[in-house]
Amino acid sequence: MQTIYLDNNATTKPAEEVVAAMSTALNEHWHNPSSVHRAGQTARHQVDLAREKVAKLIGCKNRDLIFTSGGTEADNLAILGSFAAQPKRNVLVSSKIEHEAVRDSFEEAQRHGAELIWLPIDQQGMVECDALGDLLKKRADEIALVSIMWANNETGVIQPIETIGKLCREHDVRFHTDAVQWVGKMPTNVSELPIDLLSLSSHKFHGPKGVGALYIRRGIRLGKRSLGGSQERDRRGGTENVPGIVGLGEAARLAQAWLATDERKRLEELRDNFEKRVLESVGGVVVGGDSQRMWNTANIAFPRLEAEAILLLLSEAGVCASAGAACSSGSLDPSPILLAMGIEPEVAHGAVRFSLSRFTTDEEVDAALDIIPQVIAKLQRSMSAL
Ligand code: PLP
Repeated sequence: MQTIYLDNNATTKPAEEVVAAMSTALNEHWHNPSSVHRAGQTARHQVDLAREKVAKLIGCKNRDLIFTSGGTEADNLAILGSFAAQPKRNVLVSSKIEHEAVRDSFEEAQRHGAELIWLPIDQQGMVECDALGDLLKKRADEIALVSIMWANNETGVIQPIETIGKLCREHDVRFHTDAVQWVGKMPTNVSELPIDLLSLSSHKFHGPKGVGALYIRRGIRLGKRSLGGSQERDRRGGTENVPGIVGLGEAARLAQAWLATDERKRLEELRDNFEKRVLESVGGVVVGGDSQRMWNTANIAFPRLEAEAILLLLSEAGVCASAGAACSSGSLDPSPILLAMGIEPEVAHGAVRFSLSRFTTDEEVDAALDIIPQVIAKLQRSMSAL
């Protein structure tokens, strides 16, 4: 049976070039980059080359980028490191549509005395910038960090990062963005944007899992979280994951080349056509987040059905999709992100996320479009038989 992989916001297939580069790194550059001998320095050079490629992808200087074990660690470090480094500022500001990596970091800071403020979200899934503006006018000098994601993992909704960053800059408040679902899929240039900290993750753009990076604008101080050696400019202790970092570097190089093409347009049309045809073939569905969205994400709710049941039948037919965030699939609670957008719980219960990648073909989407109406009809029949 053919596997139709439409779960690319959970993870993407590593590119062939990435696998080859990692294999060379494992076989030939397995030495410790901190060793003074030549073999160690060759491994160091591989790490430096990868840093250069990732820096190019997001438009920053090499020295402003540190490697982490992924998007989660980058978020943890940006948030808890900012809170620790500014003892006179006690307030952290974010939104309820963030990934758990951000929400849980906030809750950890709260256990250490932080006051948390969650900005409201409108029905399109966008953060309300006026609320942030009002808050900054009143309490800017108490705020340690504003953290708002660039693109949402469940709906693909794109936040007004430039406006938010400008507001923060005007009030001299630090701004972090979780750009895990953005970087590698959309052009990024932090040197032209008011962003102080940015998290990215390799496995969301055809790199390996377990490696990511945090961009830290020059002059931004952070408390250290991973204690130990002085690696990564003394910001993250621990021997570097050389093959992972090399894989991330190669994924960044490939993403940059791909972003220079207009393939994004083709895929966006493919996604739009997919949504249109699901709407036509299955009545009464709700498409989540119809505002500015990533080209690859379709969040479609099938009211009165359970997403878990849909996913199971889709999976049996070879289609991989997801309900809400990858880490919360398997739970029966509706997505807190969709609820924060004001979507009714009975609708949110049936929300399925289909996410494309640059490797997704028209044939795969066509095959999924044959299967989805059959699965939904089968579930609707079993519901009405109850
Ligand atoms: N932030 C967002 C928006 C994500 O979608 C994810 C992963 O799903 C993460 C953070 C965590 O990244 P990682 O899996 O690299 O730890």
